[in-house]
Order: sequence, then structure tokens, then C-alpha cells
Amino acid sequence: MNVRTRIAPSPTGDPHVGTAYMALFNWAFARHYGGQFLLRIEDTDTARSTPESEASIFAALQWLGLDWDEGPDVGGAAGPYRQSERREIYAQYAQQLVDREQAFYCFCTKERLDRVRSEQQAAKQTTRYDGCCLGLTADAVAQRVAAGEEHVIRMCVPDVGECTFEDELRGPVTIPFSQIDMQVLVKSDGMPTYHLAVVVDDHLMGITHILRGEEWLNSVPKHVLLYQYLDWPMPKLLHLPLLRNPDSSKLSKRKNPTSILYYRDEGFLPEALLNYLGMMGWSMPDESEIFTKAQMVKAFDEKRISVGGPIFDQAKLAWLNGQYLRQLSASEFIAQTQSWMFNQDRLSQLIPLVQERVEKFSDLAPLVDYLVGARKTLTPDNFLHKTLDRDANVKILHHTSALLDDLRHWEREAIFELCQDLAQALDLKFRDYLFPLFVAISGRGVSLPLFDSLIFLGPDLSRARIRGALDAFSVSGKERKRLDKSLVKVTALLSSGQ
Ligand code: GLU
Repeated sequence: MNVRTRIAPSPTGDPHVGTAYMALFNWAFARHYGGQFLLRIEDTDTARSTPESEASIFAALQWLGLDWDEGPDVGGAAGPYRQSERREIYAQYAQQLVDREQAFYCFCTKERLDRVRSEQQAAKQTTRYDGCCLGLTADAVAQRVAAGEEHVIRMCVPDVGECTFEDELRGPVTIPFSQIDMQVLVKSDGMPTYHLAVVVDDHLMGITHILRGEEWLNSVPKHVLLYQYLDWPMPKLLHLPLLRNPDSSKLSKRKNPTSILYYRDEGFLPEALLNYLGMMGWSMPDESEIFTKAQMVKAFDEKRISVGGPIFDQAKLAWLNGQYLRQLSASEFIAQTQSWMFNQDRLSQLIPLVQERVEKFSDLAPLVDYLVGARKTLTPDNFLHKTLDRDANVKILHHTSALLDDLRHWEREAIFELCQDLAQALDLKFRDYLFPLFVAISGRGVSLPLFDSLIFLGPDLSRARIRGALDAFSVSGKERKRLDKSLVKVTALLSSGQ
């Protein structure tokens, strides 16, 4: 069987374990059938896509050892593999759809669309574009475009009937067209939306099987229509179940670290993480829990994928990682710990922080324990402070965590400024403001300098610790909403520079 699979991550934020999970299944599927696995970067959201995020996707996949045959860095015959470099290709197909009256120019303003939406909501109808610009003549369109009027291109969707398609894991799925919006295909900035780009790219790149998250199931009717409009054969679809938190909600960083690089920096072996992801909704024919990626490739059978939401459980992952560590020979163990932390590069970042503070080598370990190891579990007692009460601690941790999540460049100066501005906006003495952060990062109120610690630990561990510190306070959903609101006000204050 000819097989070409792909993953198509968007380079926004940290490389997500969900991406690693999809990558593993697409990779194993392609390798099992002797096909190719592609990496495509979906960076059409120009406001949110960053080169740093793209680089961290590469780094994360390379660390995991999931190699791709074609992609932005390695090239390939179906390139370019970055959607931002394929604008003319999408424009050409968008025009073809317009010419065949399968898509249309839409000049509706945001105000009008909002009004229609509220009216539909009030009438308890499915919110959907009402077709206002469908009847415009070609001349009227040409005039309005020539006059520079802002516009998008939308696809035509029938009002009646239904779309039935086959999901290889779920069987036939039927969705009425009345629930499908007349999707924007080309945005006012000329960039394609996901829906146009994914169909065009999957076709032109010869993708035969699409393995992706189940959150895309409801979009399939739009894609089915586009494949029909363009007279292209539809690839086979396999919508994998989403990874879940232990409470069955969708995996979220509030409840589980989601950045792949967190697991690297915390000291997991890539083999163990891959093995664990391989157990998410799939099992080996003999049900063995410990298997290598080569064994997974050999035994891979998509029929063994189950669609019930698999729970991503930290304790189980840690157990599995322990199994891997125990299997290593002493010399492999030494090599692994060296490459993780005890290497020239990491130590030369660490030593300048401690050299001035020690009198003998035996002072080293207690100073750096939280930098080379996990910090202890926290309770509210760790945050007792002469001026900060519980709520003040919680607010500092919540706001700092949210702002650090959005910080693109993990640089000392930028983090320092962010903290200084936030302390000011919260009307706190800088020293007091820093106290809960010291505790969150090191487990104690006094430690090595905070900003050096944040840089040494890196964004993934630092963010996870500050976010995780909030758990000590059992913040309720209601309180979180209040905090989110307060954050909006503080952010407005920060951006107005006051
Ligand atoms: N950019 C989409 C995502 O990251 C790709 C979805 C797909 O595989 O079609 O979820």
C-alpha cells in the first residue's frame, strides 16, 4: 500500500505533547507500511506564529527521534512545506473555486456578522453565515474589489442535505449541511484559512492517510466539499482520540505540563515518553506495556487504535520512565545523566551561580538541589509571609504565570522587566512580589538569585513550577475566573505603560 502521512503543527507556543502523540502515530503508520512521513508547518496565522516556536517543534521531534522524510528543513519534491510560502498556490485554487461558483467574495463587515450571529443565537438557530453576498454579480464584485473594499472568500455550502464520510476508526459519520458554516477560505489579509490550505496541501503533497485529533471531525464536511469541488480523491481519515487529564477533561497545561520540552528538561527519556504515548489508545498485540518504537512500527495495526479518550497520567509515565532507567547499564546511565544535565554546557551555566557562595564542595548540593532536581511539593505554609496573605500570593502566582506563558523570548532582561512592571501594577514592593516566585521555583523563600534560576531552568520547567505552585492553594473555578478578570485589568494597565 502506498502511504504518505504528515503532521501539520502550527508554530504557536510550546511544542505540545498532543503534537508528539500525532507525530508518533503518523510516523509509525508510515514506517510500518514503508511509506513517507512529512512535516508541514501551518503558519498562516501570522499574528501568532513565531520562528522560535517552529524551531522548538523541530527540536522536540528530533529529541523524540521521530524523523521526517520531507519538511521545511530537509526539503522534498512537494515543497515548500511552510504554508506561508505557498500563498500563490492557495490563491490559484481559491480563484478556481470562485470561477466555478463554488466559492464567493464576501464583503460583510464584522458588525454585520456579529449582528446576524446574535439574531441567530436569540432565535436558537445554528450560527452560520446567512449567504448575504452569495448573489453579488461578477461586475459588482469586481467594482468593490477595485475600490479596495475589504473582503474574504467563502466556500459555498448547501443549505439542505447531509454529508456522510468514512472515518477508518469510527465507521460512517453523518453531519447535516445545515450545521456547516460557509467557511472563509481566504482571509482579508490574503492568507488562506486552515480549511483551504489543509485540503490543497494534503492533495498536492500526496497525503494518503490523515491521522489527526478528533477535534477536526466536525470540519470534515467542509473538506469533503472542497475535494469534490476540486475533483480530487479524498485521503483516508483516522481521527485519533484526544489526550485527557485524569479528570477526563481535554489535556491542558493547568492540569498537566503539555510542552514536550518540559519532559526532556525534567529528565524523562525520549524512548519512555514515546512508549507512553504509544499506549494512548493503542496497544501491542500481546498487550505488553514496554515496547520500543521499532517494535511499535513492526506491530503497528490501525485496527488496534481505540477511540475512547486516553488519560495522560504523570504517575504512570514516571513509572514507565523508571522502568527504562533501570534497564540501562551503568555506563549508559552515566551517559544519559551526562547528556541530560551533568555536561560541560549545563555545569558552566550552574557554577558561576554558586562559586561565590560556597566554602567547600559539600555546600554545592544543598544550594543547587532545586536546579538539578525537582522542588518539593508545596503547601500554603510555605508561603507564609509578613505582608502577603493567601490572596496576594495567589494573585502574584496566577498573573506572573499567565504573563510568562506569553513571553516569547526567555531572556533575563525581559523576564525581569515583566516582573518589575507587574509588581508595580499590583502596587507591591518588588521584594515582596518576588517572594512567592522564590517559593514556587525553589521550594523556599531564599535561594540562589531568582532570575538566574529561571534562566537556568528554562521556560518549560519554570512555567510548570509557577503554575504548579498555585495547586498548593486549591484555587476554585470561581476564584480563577476572578483572577482572570483581574489579569485583564492589569494587562491593560501594563500596556498603557502606567
Ligand atoms: N494545524 C492543525 C493542528 O495543529 C493541523 C490539523 C490537521 O492535522 O489537519 O491541529
